[in-house]
Parts: sequence; C-alpha cells; structure tokens
Amino acid sequence: MRLIFLGPPGAGKGTQARILERRFGARQISTGDILRENRARGTALGKEAEGYMKRGELVPDALIIAMIERELDSSRDGFIMDGFPRTVAQAEAFDALLARKQWPLDAVVLFDADRKTLVDRLSSRWTNPRNGRTYNTFSNPPRVAGVDDDDGGALVQREDDKPETVSKRLDVYDEQTKPLVAYYRTTGKLAEIDALQSVDDVAHQLAHAIGLEHAH
Ligand code: ADP
Ligand code: ADP
Repeated sequence: MRLIFLGPPGAGKGTQARILERRFGARQISTGDILRENRARGTALGKEAEGYMKRGELVPDALIIAMIERELDSSRDGFIMDGFPRTVAQAEAFDALLARKQWPLDAVVLFDADRKTLVDRLSSRWTNPRNGRTYNTFSNPPRVAGVDDDDGGALVQREDDKPETVSKRLDVYDEQTKPLVAYYRTTGKLAEIDALQSVDDVAHQLAHAIGLEHAH
C-alpha cells in the first residue's frame, strides 16, 4: 500500500499509521520522527532543522525532499507518508519521484478536525522519544502515567507542543499545507475522514476509505 496521510498536527495521523503498520505491515514514514532522530544524533540535517522545528516553522523543502528520496530506497513494499508532503513544492517533487519509480499512490487520506480539538489533543499529548509513539492524558493514557506501555521508558511532552508553538504550527498548516487538499483532489485519490471520532472509529473509517475493511 502506498498512502499519504494529510491533515493538521494533532489530527491523529501518527496514531492511525501505527495501527495500519501493526495490522498490515505497512511502513510508516514520519518526517517529524526522522527529523527528531537526526536532532538527537546531532547530524548535519538535525542541526539545520532544529531552529525551524523549535519555532514551529517548516524545514526547507530541499532538505525534506532529499530525506524522502533516501527513505524511498527502502520503501519497495509500500509506505504511509505521515507529515509529508507539507507544501506544493514537496508534493510536486514527490510526484516526480514516484513517476520515475512507477509507483502510483493508492490514496491520499485527509484527516479533518477543528482547531480547538487539535489544540486540546496536542497540549495533552505525550510522546515516546525513542520510537515516536504517542499517548494522550485524556483519550489514550499509558497504563502508568509518564511511562511507555511497551518499553517502560519515560514519555515526554514535545517542546513544540506548548501552546504558542502549537498555534504557530496550525497557522503554518493553513497557509502552506492546506493547498494540498485542492492539489490532491484533482487526482481523484483524495479520501476524507472525520478525525473527531474515537481512535477505533477513525480506524474503521480509514479501513473503509482505503478498501481494507474485509482484510482482517
Ligand atoms: P498527528 O500525528 O496527526 O500529529 P497524533 O497521532 O500524534 O497526531 O495524535 C495527537 C494526539 O491526539 C495524541 O495525544 C493522540 O494520543 C491523540 N489522539 C489521536 N487520535 C485520537 C482520537 N481519534 N481521539 C482522541 N484523541 C486522539
Ligand atoms: P505533527 O505530527 O505534530 O504534525 P511532526 O512531527 O510531523 O508534527 O513535525 C514536527 C516538525 O518537523 C514540524 O513543525 C516541522 O518543523 C518539521 N517537519 C516535519 N515534516 C516536515 C515536512 N514535510 N516539511 C517541512 N517540515 C517538516
């Protein structure tokens, strides 16, 4: 399966990508997770990206496109793009890469949610920095507060999930990423889902949207 998950920060893209990964062996590619890993390892890419990420701005297209090109080398069996593309320039570059490989997309899934819900979800999000898995104080708490269910390590609140940065990131989404909705609508592959529903409900909508409802 070759999917793009499109939608604002906090809509639940990462949560659903992990569910598909577990159920169907799809491979989630989260550009945010890859960038955070690079920052943690102190790579050149990580250092270049840091300032933009702290401010809630987008990392320059050229860096992101080069990163995705490397990731595609190990995506022969498919991918779920989570958080990419985020600009029209990224989408155009991605189209060209996929065309060259003759890898057509199956669907672009748009996660739709209102701003208040997104702010609430992000301010109560807890993340496992080792693998990017997220929890939520209210809707999806870990068994023990502050501790990952699986690896037993500490969960953190991302610095860009604090209110000022969240507001900036949502503005950046509206200005730079929302135009992708029209861009992908013209391909006839855009499927919209209501991301306000529970995690299970959204998972059902998603399975239906991508034709997997009978696969399990
Ligand atoms: P994204 O990857 O789109 O930024 P996440 O998957 O990290 O979003 O989810 C954002 C926050 O909302 C997390 O704390 C997550 O546990 C929680 N969450 C995800 N999906 C839902 C849902 N359907 N209902 C309530 N909370 C959710
Ligand atoms: P969320 O899941 O909450 O939307 P991400 O983890 O996807 O957040 O992204 C965190 C930050 O990483 C973004 O605010 C941005 O600075 C950077 N980033 C991630 N993906 C991209 C991308 N495709 N283009 C530019 N910047 C990106």
